[in-house]
Amino acid sequence: MDYSKQNNEKKRKKIRSNAAKSKKKITFNIFRFTMLAILLIVIVGIAAAIGGFKGVIDSAPDITASNVMPSKLKSVMYYPDGQEAIELVGAQSNRTIVSIDDIPKCLSNAFVAIEDNRFYEHNGIDPKGIVRALFVGLSHGGNFSEGASTITQQLIKLTVFNGGAETDTIQRFKRKFQEWYLALKLEKEMSKDEIMEAYLNTINLGRGAYGVEAAAERYFNKKCSDLTVSESAVIAAIAQSPSYNNPIDYPDINAQRRDKILNNMLTLGLITQQQYDEAKADDVYSRITEVNKTTKSKDIIYTWFEDAAIDQVLNDLQEKLGYTSAEANNALYSGGLQIYLTQSRHIQDIVDSYYNDDDNFPSTEYRLHWALTYKDKDGETVNIDENSLQSYYGADDCDLLYDNEDQAKQSIAEFLEAKGITDDDIIAQSFDMTVQVQSSFVLMDQSTGYVLALSGGRGEKKTSRSFNRATQSTRQPGSVFKTIAVFLPALDSCGLSLASTKEDEPYTTPDGYQPFNTNANSYQGTTTIREAITYSMNVVTTKWLVEDVTPKLGIEYLENLGITTMDEDRDAYAPLGLGGISNGVTNLELTGAYAAIANGGVYTEPILYSKILDKDGNVLLDNVPEKHTAMKDSTAWLLTSAMEDVVSKGTGTSAQISNYGIAEAGKTGTTDDYKDLWFVGYTPYYTAGIWFGYDDSTLMRYRLGRNYNAHKVLWKNIMNEVLEGYEDRDFVMPSDVEKLRVCSSTGLLASYGCNVITEYFAKDTAPTEYCSKHSYRYYENSYDDDSSSSSASGSNSSNTTSGDNSGNGNSGADNSGGDNSGGGNSGGDNSGGDNSGGDNSGGDNSGGDNSGGDNSGGDNSGGDNSGGDNTGAEQ
Ligand SMILES: [Zn+2]
Repeated sequence: MDYSKQNNEKKRKKIRSNAAKSKKKITFNIFRFTMLAILLIVIVGIAAAIGGFKGVIDSAPDITASNVMPSKLKSVMYYPDGQEAIELVGAQSNRTIVSIDDIPKCLSNAFVAIEDNRFYEHNGIDPKGIVRALFVGLSHGGNFSEGASTITQQLIKLTVFNGGAETDTIQRFKRKFQEWYLALKLEKEMSKDEIMEAYLNTINLGRGAYGVEAAAERYFNKKCSDLTVSESAVIAAIAQSPSYNNPIDYPDINAQRRDKILNNMLTLGLITQQQYDEAKADDVYSRITEVNKTTKSKDIIYTWFEDAAIDQVLNDLQEKLGYTSAEANNALYSGGLQIYLTQSRHIQDIVDSYYNDDDNFPSTEYRLHWALTYKDKDGETVNIDENSLQSYYGADDCDLLYDNEDQAKQSIAEFLEAKGITDDDIIAQSFDMTVQVQSSFVLMDQSTGYVLALSGGRGEKKTSRSFNRATQSTRQPGSVFKTIAVFLPALDSCGLSLASTKEDEPYTTPDGYQPFNTNANSYQGTTTIREAITYSMNVVTTKWLVEDVTPKLGIEYLENLGITTMDEDRDAYAPLGLGGISNGVTNLELTGAYAAIANGGVYTEPILYSKILDKDGNVLLDNVPEKHTAMKDSTAWLLTSAMEDVVSKGTGTSAQISNYGIAEAGKTGTTDDYKDLWFVGYTPYYTAGIWFGYDDSTLMRYRLGRNYNAHKVLWKNIMNEVLEGYEDRDFVMPSDVEKLRVCSSTGLLASYGCNVITEYFAKDTAPTEYCSKHSYRYYENSYDDDSSSSSASGSNSSNTTSGDNSGNGNSGADNSGGDNSGGGNSGGDNSGGDNSGGDNSGGDNSGGDNSGGDNSGGDNSGGDNSGGDNTGAEQ
């Protein structure tokens, strides 16, 4: 600005000398006085202008090399192995930063040739350019939009002034002055190469591509380092107007400007004649059209896992780093974050292949989502949806579930005809169908908290961030809650053991609540906690909750297991024990709770990403999962032992994996009238939860026929494939657990006349007294000698329920041998309802045999036992 300051100084000197001369003439003269007044006004005006200009400069934003670098960068999610999973691209963030060293000279020169051909000579502003632009602007009625901006100024306009979209002229001039001032300043701080690098990484190059690297990929599917002269000219031609100069939408306009660029480059000596000729001969636009065909089809929809990870990242940025919601979203979609997922591609692929096959689901029908806007006879606009359809046909005849699209459309057509709504009346209509029965699946590593695979639904995923049945849907948990809401606190802090008993008999709580077993009239008499878990028995579970645990304590334990949907007031009642709660739970949280049991009692928050790096590769968030002890390790092991029975002979036999060398435990859950089917199970490796149900809680009792084990079968099939090649492994029994022979009805140390079971106890709750109810003399040694197996699969030991068993011969000391393992146990008895009876008692069921071929053979795993009877126990 030096030259303009000099001008002002000259003017001022001139004004001063004029004033001096006028003073010499003493004659009072109106004309002179007027002149003087005018001059005075001019002086004041100029002074004000100078002061104003100084104000404009003073108010210019501060500028450094870092704030002219592009701020909006896409984020990327990676698999644990470093392979890219998905890009998160917000508005203006489809950009990959590229170093000036990787930008070919022909590309930067193409920009120089068209945008700023004195770039390497000027010091930020180009006076010749400004003069030219002034003339152009004046001759176009004050429209100063054309040219004159150096590349340095353009960079400042894009980064410091947000593109310079002022609507008011004064503001535009103010910004222009500041731009000049800052351009001069920036050139002192940054080299030409640095400015060029920032510029080429910043500019909008149309079709959602920002910066030359993204543009090279978008238009040519290559790195910008590989661009030819011809391609460079195409890209440089876009910069002036990304919407109207881009070579996909307006190839002719782009081509005109490209020719101009090539001519300029030749004239300026930036390319040789040969390069020019080659570029001119290149059929570049047909190549762009070809590339566009494949790029367009890359319309990316995030997976269920990615959706859930995004939710977790957004949440953590706010909770752990104190971002606002808007800041978290900006960081995620345009902050250049590198997010590392916990996902196992291998396991996810297995899950997806099962979820994509309708044969794995017990029903395939479609729920209609329909909305219509039409004009009625009075010309009023009316909105209706599928509920209107249902009220027209009646809920009994129209459940909004159809076998296919045609059926649904037929039903709509009949409805519209009956209502007299014609095509001409219709203003807008939306129609969508979601496949049912629906499902969700979560698989995690209980020791790390890493979620390895997740499915939020079956059927085509139509949009990103859609409703996720694994993480967002809260459903009634049914009997899956028994273990964690009742028996976990019972064993952990109420002094009870797996051998503790209650009478299974008709029962009403003091509040008047009356639980029923699934076979409403069937009661089993004296029942241990192990049996209550194995056969998912409702009445005794409720008794334990009400009489020993209390709902309040149950809720405390649930919350400590990461269940966040509990309502401490509304849920603190007897139905809690059977999973009757006000808000339901998510599959992710339920699986996380069971993972704590699988992990020896240490709860580890399920996480979907392990770390976030910022755009420079520094760790922004190291996602170490929250861990705490949620129960004693003995409690975890005892629950596991009981839940091994669930899978080996209780309500969960359909979920029994084929490799018996890998220990397995789990719990089933079914809600009233089969609205929800659950199974949450685990091995020493992984914990996984599966849910089946209709989105609108349609009752499944009659829809599924006898297929209400389908979710367990699917769980088993997935786990079989996931665990293929894994080594045999047992759950490890902690040292504070011991195995004792006790009386099945009193739970005290067994005496001679007792019906004896062997059971595991936490040492601090183990019985110390002998049963006096049945006995004339004590056993000399009540400790079980056969404790070599520390495996909880030994827990088959304690299977007696009723007293009938005592005559069976399987009880007592002799059991330790291999006798029981043989074929006898595999026989018919084991199947059917009798299995809950006495046959399986005795210590040695624990061995390999019982879990071996026989018992798992036809009968036990077959129809009856896994089917109606045994699952029947739960609600
Ligand atoms: Zn006894």
